[in-house]
Amino acid sequence: MEKTFAIIKPDAVERNLTGKILERIESEGFRIVAMKRVLLTLADAQGFYYVHKERPFFKDLTAYMCTGPVVLIILEKEGAIKAWRELMGATNPADAEEGTIRKEFAVNLEKNSVHGSDAPETAAFEISYFFSQTEVLS
Ligand code: ATP
Ligand code: MG
Repeated sequence: MEKTFAIIKPDAVERNLTGKILERIESEGFRIVAMKRVLLTLADAQGFYYVHKERPFFKDLTAYMCTGPVVLIILEKEGAIKAWRELMGATNPADAEEGTIRKEFAVNLEKNSVHGSDAPETAAFEISYFFSQTEVLS
């Protein structure tokens, strides 16, 4: 069964949307394999988003990810990576399709409520970045 990594970002946690987003995830048939609510340090956020370190939005993005608690989640489902990206919707909520989480909840391009891994290699990196092996139950 494929695993992917998800984050409920600070804008959504702050607006008490954690339960609503988890409800969407579970009703789409994902299994929550591991989950924790944490406040990231700037170093955590910079390491996590290192692929974007040369991008103009890197500084704002990493600062934003530390503005409040986030929920880190490992999801499992057949084709989980693609299925979770589809449920999230486009990065910019203005382009997100009806019925997606970003369409329903995101504030703007930066405060877009959720994160999802975009490939098997990034899912493996992101899971191991935040979770130890003993935290990942199967
Ligand atoms: P994520 O990686 O968070 O799941 P994504 O894969 O849809 O989102 P990326 O291109 O990886 O999008 O960008 C990572 C995050 O950086 C976006 O989710 C968004 O919060 C922020 N971001 C992306 N592009 C911009 C931009 N042009 N201006 C501001 N923030 C941006
Ligand atoms: Mg991405």
